[in-house]
Amino acid sequence: MDFHLSSEQAQFRDSVLRFARHELAGGALERAHASGYPWEVARRMAAQGLLGITIAEADGGQGGTLLDAVLAIEAVASACPRSADVVQAGNFGPIRVLAQYGSAAQKQNYLTRLLAGESVIAVGMTEPDAGSAVTELKTNAQRVDGGWRINGSKVFTTHSAYAEVFLVYVRFAPGVGGIGSVLLERDSKGVSVGKKSHFMSGEEWTQLHFEDVFVPDERLLLGEGGFKKQIAGFNVERIGNAARSLALGRYAYEQARAWAMQRKQFGRLLCEFQGLQWKFADMKIKLDAAQLLLYRAAANADRGFPSPEETAIAKAFCNQAGFDVANEALQAMGGMGYSQETLVEYCLRRCRGWMIAGGSLEILKNRIAEHVFERSFSQRGGKE
Ligand SMILES: Cc1cc2nc3c(=O)[nH]c(=O)nc-3n(C[C@H](O)[C@H](O)[C@H](O)COP(=O)(O)OP(=O)(O)OC[C@H]3O[C@@H](n4cnc5c(N)ncnc54)[C@H](O)[C@@H]3O)c2cc1C
Repeated sequence: MDFHLSSEQAQFRDSVLRFARHELAGGALERAHASGYPWEVARRMAAQGLLGITIAEADGGQGGTLLDAVLAIEAVASACPRSADVVQAGNFGPIRVLAQYGSAAQKQNYLTRLLAGESVIAVGMTEPDAGSAVTELKTNAQRVDGGWRINGSKVFTTHSAYAEVFLVYVRFAPGVGGIGSVLLERDSKGVSVGKKSHFMSGEEWTQLHFEDVFVPDERLLLGEGGFKKQIAGFNVERIGNAARSLALGRYAYEQARAWAMQRKQFGRLLCEFQGLQWKFADMKIKLDAAQLLLYRAAANADRGFPSPEETAIAKAFCNQAGFDVANEALQAMGGMGYSQETLVEYCLRRCRGWMIAGGSLEILKNRIAEHVFERSFSQRGGKE
């Protein structure tokens, strides 16, 4: 077993690090507090080949591995935490599901702009009455001449305020087998957005309403029976979510480490107090352990989708580690950590959200327990 990156991987990571330090680090604080999508970052990343890292070259991507994309998130986040979301959107989210299952026409229609950093795609799964129990979604697709009529509503969709196209989970028929997905364009007749809201992270989201929205046959992504394939693709999104938790936890840790080596109280550097040394030792252990679990899931996936179990374990651990480390880093920096002078408080707020988004910690642990006991456990009360 080799715990080192290959020379190509190390070269790639170093080139992304150079790019991130030169082009992104300068505006990191402003970017984290700005509203909207960082389009200027997206275009620079497109030019640098950082969108579509895992997408086949034939589809306009770079043909790399999932671990390459994880390395890119880590390198970018180390200079500009907010910009790591652009790596996520261009590699791990619904774009990857589209690249995997989309028809040639769908890919041609959407991927070109997405990979150029000119557009972003969002995934609409969650509904007011279907959160963790996502298979209870009600957004309905009714067959009509030449396509489908979509009626329903989605909440908490990341990028909902500005995405041009949505990968929307819909119901074609009852049960899990009746779920599939369509590509729904923002400017379609019948799409309306509710009032803008904000997550604790500062990111905007708007409720999406679909009223008799016509989606032609050409925009069907996965029909009835598509749910399992969608979730297999969604595990890539979870890897990106885990990678950002770890990377932002590490960012906060590095800020606090530097602070502890130059801030003096009681005539001594903070790093000379054992009470703080042990905090840093615990942070380091968590970061290293999280990274090993994340790299295992990503490396084993190679150019395919990651295993559900390894993904759940990596995400659960990275989400918790990222949050714990950012929290301890903030504590070690005192009032400065709690202030918006640095990005430590931002990293803490972002890490908190990833413990809920993309499969909450509890839902991931339910999944891991099923693997442990080699059986499924229905989460429903009473008889099925
Ligand atoms: C930052 C952020 C970004 C998001 N982005 C998107 C997006 O882009 N697209 C999208 O579709 N959705 C998105 N979501 C929504 C997210 O997927 C849901 O919030 C999540 O699935 C939980 O659903 P819920 O909020 O309805 O909570 P609920 O399902 O109501 O759960 C509430 C609490 O109960 C726990 N719980 C529920 N069921 C069980 C169980 N069986 N066992 C143990 N505990 C349980 C949960 O873990 C949670 O702690 C985002 C959410 C956040 C916070």
